[in-house]
Amino acid sequence: MLTGSCLCGDIAFEIDGPVDALGHCHCSMCRKFHGSPFVTFVAAAPQDFRWVRGAERVQAYASSPLGSRRFCGRCGSPVPATADVLPFVLVPLGNVTEDPGVRPGLHMFTSSMAPWDTIVDDMPQHAELPPEFAEMAMESERPARVPRTPGAIGGSCLCGAVAFEFDGPPLKMYHCHCSRCRRAAGAAYQTLLRARRNGFRWLKGADNVTNYRVPGTRFECAFCRTCGGRTPWERHDQVCIPAGCLDNDPGVQPTDNIFIDSRAAWTVLDERLKNWPEAGGWNPPKHAPGSATA
Ligand SMILES: [Zn+2]
Ligand SMILES: [Zn+2]
Ligand SMILES: [Zn+2]
Repeated sequence: MLTGSCLCGDIAFEIDGPVDALGHCHCSMCRKFHGSPFVTFVAAAPQDFRWVRGAERVQAYASSPLGSRRFCGRCGSPVPATADVLPFVLVPLGNVTEDPGVRPGLHMFTSSMAPWDTIVDDMPQHAELPPEFAEMAMESERPARVPRTPGAIGGSCLCGAVAFEFDGPPLKMYHCHCSRCRRAAGAAYQTLLRARRNGFRWLKGADNVTNYRVPGTRFECAFCRTCGGRTPWERHDQVCIPAGCLDNDPGVQPTDNIFIDSRAAWTVLDERLKNWPEAGGWNPPKHAPGSATA
């Protein structure tokens, strides 16, 4: 049996049966919703899937006529989309605790990959939706948005209610594989940028952002309360920005993988980066790995 939950633990689920690996999706809508370079999904049969708690807390955002994004209203974690549109339950693997046994076998929507995203395995790459997934066909692209100030680096949530920009260059860009980041993003890892707070501006929707902090820790995250899309959060003199919400090229690439000892069993590491068992040797994030408070 597989178990999973959102970051805060309000919502939990079980899957009692085999799952199918659907692969890694690099589309811009997944990026904005999860804040990550790509999202890894498995499919479960509806009869094998159960909410253990919190089904009534699941928020939905209709990202397209056929696509409904589900998230926790308290912590913002993406959660599985039950089978009301698709014939199966669509589960973001980042929220699953155990090794599912199956491994992703392909990449999709590589034509819309972020400029800072690099595929480091040799699995098949599909520019759009692989033909065998035709039943999942749904809108996958957001209209491009541009920062207000020429030269700035901009970002926005999936629905567009929240937008921001900051003056570059970013201080740092890295992948965090800790279990909290995986739950917060519902993805293999969370790719974050750090920028100076005094060069950061909310353009709209600052009051539509919900912040969540894991009790007793310094781990924080934030999301748009309308769509669940990941958003930046301010911390001391810096801002932490989930890279998936960027609307243009930040001009830098991730340089480090941190907390790799906590990485998902199905993650393939980019060995060209600096790999740290826990926090990096640079201005380390003040959070330790550990299981979500399920
Ligand atoms: Zn939650
Ligand atoms: Zn939004
Ligand atoms: Zn982390």
